Amino acid sequence: MTLPLKSPAFVERAFGLDLLSIVVPVHNEAAVLTAFHERLMQVMDELPLAVEVVYVDDGSSDPSPKILRQLRMRDTRVAVLELSRNFGKEAAMTAGLDHAGGDAIVVIDADLQDPPELIADMVAAWREGYDVVVARRTHRDGESGFKKLSSKLFYRTLNRVSAVPIPVDVGDFRLMSRRAVEALKRLPERNRYMKGLFAWVGFPQKELLYVREARHAGRSQWGFWKLVGLALDGLTSFTWAPLRVATVVGVLVAAGALTMGGFILVKTLLYGDPVPGYPSLMCMVLFLGGMQLLAIGIQGEYLGRLFVESKQRPIYLLKNWQPAASVNRAFRSRERAA
Ligand code: UDP
Ligand code: MG
Repeated sequence: MTLPLKSPAFVERAFGLDLLSIVVPVHNEAAVLTAFHERLMQVMDELPLAVEVVYVDDGSSDPSPKILRQLRMRDTRVAVLELSRNFGKEAAMTAGLDHAGGDAIVVIDADLQDPPELIADMVAAWREGYDVVVARRTHRDGESGFKKLSSKLFYRTLNRVSAVPIPVDVGDFRLMSRRAVEALKRLPERNRYMKGLFAWVGFPQKELLYVREARHAGRSQWGFWKLVGLALDGLTSFTWAPLRVATVVGVLVAAGALTMGGFILVKTLLYGDPVPGYPSLMCMVLFLGGMQLLAIGIQGEYLGRLFVESKQRPIYLLKNWQPAASVNRAFRSRERAA
């Protein structure tokens, strides 16, 4: 039996179809949104699933919100979530996950760097019983050599120090089962380094390979400093190894100073003391001063995050939530209660 492809989700539910939610964080993506939606829906139309697409407008200052509303008018499977301002991609994804009602949820970027076609394979893997299906990129077209190198270095370092392995070259593009999402929702931290949080919850996981395309239009909103910030967030929320570095370096420097002291003592006893040593003294003073500032800085990174966590502010604020017309209320409240 073939079902009408765009029937309301509750009708499809009655035929035993599961609901797939697609969460799309959107920040100033007016240039690509329509093309993205079209390409996404071409894939969705082929899937034997009820579908809702939750667009999260993360405080866009371009016509994105308007386009999203238009999409929702035209397609009953579109839900639009508007945040009160720009909270950042991690918060936008969290908002989307909180509001998506699907039995499985896919997170995908709006800029067409993540190919929607892969979702079909993700769903297949989910059917096989995997709770988390991640997309691992094999190439990064359209990204500078510097960005590639720095991301490689970052992941290598992070994995060396973090307790849970954080998969390399895996972005936020992934499918998660309902229970994996529920687990994720129980992590309340404000500092949402999603890649790490995703890894932390565990569950049977499968990797699919894909080629990351260049941005379709518009430009990446991740400037250099924003990426540095993200890297620091990742490190500090998954390991306190940097705090330990200060201890270790302190011990090493002290040991070095003792040895040197002994050496100087012996030298003075044997050869007398013709008072050289200003440059070496200056070197040591500056070196130690720098080390101390670095150690204080590292402590500050943790203290700052503690400060943010302690305020317990909400991760995002909603301006507006328009659920997909095709997903009926009863189904939604049942999912919420579960
Ligand atoms: N994004 C967002 N809030 C932000 C920045 C980005 O919701 O503050 C969205 C953006 O619209 C896109 C996704 O997050 O759908 C990835 O953003 P981008 O392409 O800038 O990141 P990159 O691909 O360089 O990692
Ligand atoms: Mg992108």
